[in-house]
Amino acid sequence: MSDILDRFLRYVRVDTQSDEATCDTVPSTSKQHDLARLLAAELTELGAQNVSADDHAYVTAWIPASPGAENQPRLGLIAHIDTAAEASGANVSPRVVTYEGGDLVAGELDGQRVAMSPEKLPALSDLVGQQLVVTDGTTLLGADDKAGVAEIMALVARLADRPDLPHPPLGICFAPDEEIGHGAALLDIESFGCAAAYTVDGGPIGELEWECFNASDVTLTIQGATIHPGDAKGRMVNAVHLFEEFEAMLPAQERPEHTEGYEGFIHCMSVSGTCEHLTARYIVRDHDAAAFDRKLDLMRAAADYVNLRHGADRAQLAVNPQYRNMAEVVSQRPELIARAEAAFQDAGFTPRVIPIRGGTDGAQLSFRGLPCPNLSTGGYCAHSVNEFIPVRSLEGMVDVLEALVARFAVD
Ligand SMILES: [Zn+2]
Repeated sequence: MSDILDRFLRYVRVDTQSDEATCDTVPSTSKQHDLARLLAAELTELGAQNVSADDHAYVTAWIPASPGAENQPRLGLIAHIDTAAEASGANVSPRVVTYEGGDLVAGELDGQRVAMSPEKLPALSDLVGQQLVVTDGTTLLGADDKAGVAEIMALVARLADRPDLPHPPLGICFAPDEEIGHGAALLDIESFGCAAAYTVDGGPIGELEWECFNASDVTLTIQGATIHPGDAKGRMVNAVHLFEEFEAMLPAQERPEHTEGYEGFIHCMSVSGTCEHLTARYIVRDHDAAAFDRKLDLMRAAADYVNLRHGADRAQLAVNPQYRNMAEVVSQRPELIARAEAAFQDAGFTPRVIPIRGGTDGAQLSFRGLPCPNLSTGGYCAHSVNEFIPVRSLEGMVDVLEALVARFAVD
């Protein structure tokens, strides 16, 4: 019997929510140190080497190879310790329930029942009879990504317990602030010493991800010209109406609410302004680099058109690149995908390759030289009070990781 459930329940009780507003310091919230210190202590106890929990709440450690696999390249396993902002991460009270079908009820929040229905989440019907870890309805669970943390830690414990299990030298990294886009930027890849790595930060068991969006955020500013409305004829330029013109030139079918799979989008996140001045914030996403560039070109052309009609430089676009599709890097290392697929099958699960409609720490690490596909954790409904994870998936992912490292113990 694995200790994965105990581990998971222990880690989710530690509040590690990150905070966009304080992203200038890493970690953005000092409470992330609490879990970092706990994990470092447990890794030391399990016999890991070079264990470190640094000032930025990065935990790193090495696990020596099994006999005969010492010359294999070191393989990294990475998860993030912070939780998302969409729901509270304080006072998490996880409960293990047996799901009997129908609505999965977590609890109550503000007098409202918190439940997930099979109509909204068809995958629930495959989980009837299983034990699920749920919240009490008032917080998120934090399976994103403490399930990943617990699964990696349970693997380390299993390898310590069973020296016969084959594995190459391993590098373990638990990083802060993934949910606010930090991207494991302070991981020193050279001293981490891994030739490749996997993040364990995906959804339902079997998911394997190695393609993500190309991503930029775009800020549109429009300068109007105000004057007393009584004297405005031929003189006022209302920034709000220039914005309307700009928006009308963007394709409505490419909004997030109309896209899925490999379809990218242009998303207007916020607008604030007056007749005098207006600022609109957008994010632009597409898996395909050419289609991504076309979306940005379209926005530039729309701004140019507004300027042509209303006088130069009323509309300005600032494009800020965020991350790129890691498929560019990972596709050069097809064995990383093949071995992960085989590991899922070894452990009795069907691998499903799906495109990430977002980014991961692995995207930035891949472009910094550490190719880094993403594995499932087993969790569902991340970033919400309905978040849950089947106990069988927690246990299953430890078996998947055991099978995965075994496949890296030989050429
Ligand atoms: Zn995550």
